[in-house]
Amino acid sequence: MSSSPDNKPGCGPLSCDYRAELSGDSYEVLFEEATERAFTSPLYLEQRAGAYICAACHNPLFRSDTKYESGTGWPSFYQPTSPEAVGTKKDFKLVWPRTEYHCARCGGHQGHVFEDGPQPTGLRYCNNGVALRFIPDGEPLPDLR
Ligand SMILES: [Zn+2]
Repeated sequence: MSSSPDNKPGCGPLSCDYRAELSGDSYEVLFEEATERAFTSPLYLEQRAGAYICAACHNPLFRSDTKYESGTGWPSFYQPTSPEAVGTKKDFKLVWPRTEYHCARCGGHQGHVFEDGPQPTGLRYCNNGVALRFIPDGEPLPDLR
C-alpha cells in the first residue's frame, strides 16, 4: 500500500502503465514499496553470469559479478552497474531510518542499502527479487520501456 502522496514514485519516461506489464507481486514491490518474503525469489539462488535489470523499465541495475551470498534471503549486491543507475532516499517506515533505493529511470522501488556489505564498497544492496529480471549473458537485453 502506498502511504503518502509525497512518497509516490515517478513514472517511466515512456509509459506509466507498468501495472499492465507486471505481475501483482512485482507491481506492489516496485510501486507500492512492498517487501517480498525472504527466500521466496529464485534470483536469490541465481549464480549464472548476467545482468539484473529493473522488472518495470528494463534499466540494467546490477551485474552478477557484484552479487554475493548475504544470508538474508534476498538477492544482494555490493554495487550497482553505475552510480546513476539507482537513486536513494531515507525511509522512516521502521523505527530507525533506512536508505531506500530505486531504479533511477522509472522510480520503481528495489530495496534498501545497508553499510554491512563486503569490500570494495562495504555496501549491501538488499534487493527484492520480483523487482528485478535476470538476463543471462548471451541473451539480448530487452528494450527499455
Ligand atoms: Zn526501472
